[in-house]
Amino acid sequence: MPRPPAVDLYSDTQTRPTAAMRRAMADAEVGDEQQGTDPTVNRLCARTAEMLGQEAGLFLPTGTMCNLVAVAAHTSPGDAIVASADSHIVRSETGGAAAYSGVITDLLPADRGRFGPEAAAEALAPGHVYRPWPRLVCLEQTHNFGGGTVWPLGQYRAVAEAAHEAGVPVHTDGARLFNATVASGTDPEVWGEPVESIWIDFTKGLGAPIGAVLVGGRDFIQAARMHKHRCGGAMRQAGIAAAGCLHALDHHIERLADDHANAARLAEGLAALGLGTEEVETNMVWIEVAPTGSGAAEFLERLAARDVRMSRVEERVRAVTHLDVAAADIETAIAAVAAVLDESA
Ligand SMILES: *Cc1c(COP(=O)(O)O)cnc(C)c1O
Repeated sequence: MPRPPAVDLYSDTQTRPTAAMRRAMADAEVGDEQQGTDPTVNRLCARTAEMLGQEAGLFLPTGTMCNLVAVAAHTSPGDAIVASADSHIVRSETGGAAAYSGVITDLLPADRGRFGPEAAAEALAPGHVYRPWPRLVCLEQTHNFGGGTVWPLGQYRAVAEAAHEAGVPVHTDGARLFNATVASGTDPEVWGEPVESIWIDFTKGLGAPIGAVLVGGRDFIQAARMHKHRCGGAMRQAGIAAAGCLHALDHHIERLADDHANAARLAEGLAALGLGTEEVETNMVWIEVAPTGSGAAEFLERLAARDVRMSRVEERVRAVTHLDVAAADIETAIAAVAAVLDESA
């Protein structure tokens, strides 16, 4: 078994369930999720829907499946969906929306994942009869490849309004929504209310091992449930997993502020070493490694030799803070980067 690195900044997916979370999971009351009779799953769905100001929720094994079934429920084959060019649904879901729902994606240029109401309105303007119909606007909060960026609430609402004026619903990938609420001091429901569907991933900063909840109106959730079943996502005693998610809602939201402070400290420590980062808004630090004299892949290897793990997307190196990274680990990571820089000097 490979040993985990001393400091794992690869992703906030690298958390292990805490002892208390495991106990909550072991003690979960369960039923048959597929038949709608798992009480713990039902509690989680009702609670998430209420937090986000929506009518109903659906428990899914992964965030990817939330996007997959949401697009299917909102569209018909041949439709277009509109998303920023670097969104997760475009870059990291193996073309699921196209393969499963038969939609094409109109890519919007964006500023670190965010675009304005004018760009949305333009993408949705009535076009030629030959053109695929734009039928859904997809947003992402926080925006991962944008840099862990937070949509300002006014901009988010204005884009949703532009979509609604064009008669088009809005879907939000809220994999890291709570990072955004903690960073911006906003209530979750203000992000849920302006859109037709939104979901939360419990396996990112919230630290649970399995599960995501998609919420929306009752009819939408009914359609999404059919697609969930069709693509094999209906489960049985899933309350075991849902109990971990409920535990995360109780114990792991406010502490995301610690992750944000750790990310800010990492960026500060790297800046002192002469390494630039993109502006840090939440728990991600995207690092410019060109000044180290090595490419991103080589930089990561040299860091790994010092037992610190980060990831990369092409030449951008990403470090993500999470539940299993303490403030002292950040100092260890900064020291490891300093040693790598010394080595190449
Ligand atoms: C991780 C992630 C997903 C996919 O979630 P999984 O639970 O890994 O399937 C979707 N969107 C964003 C923005 C993500 O970061």
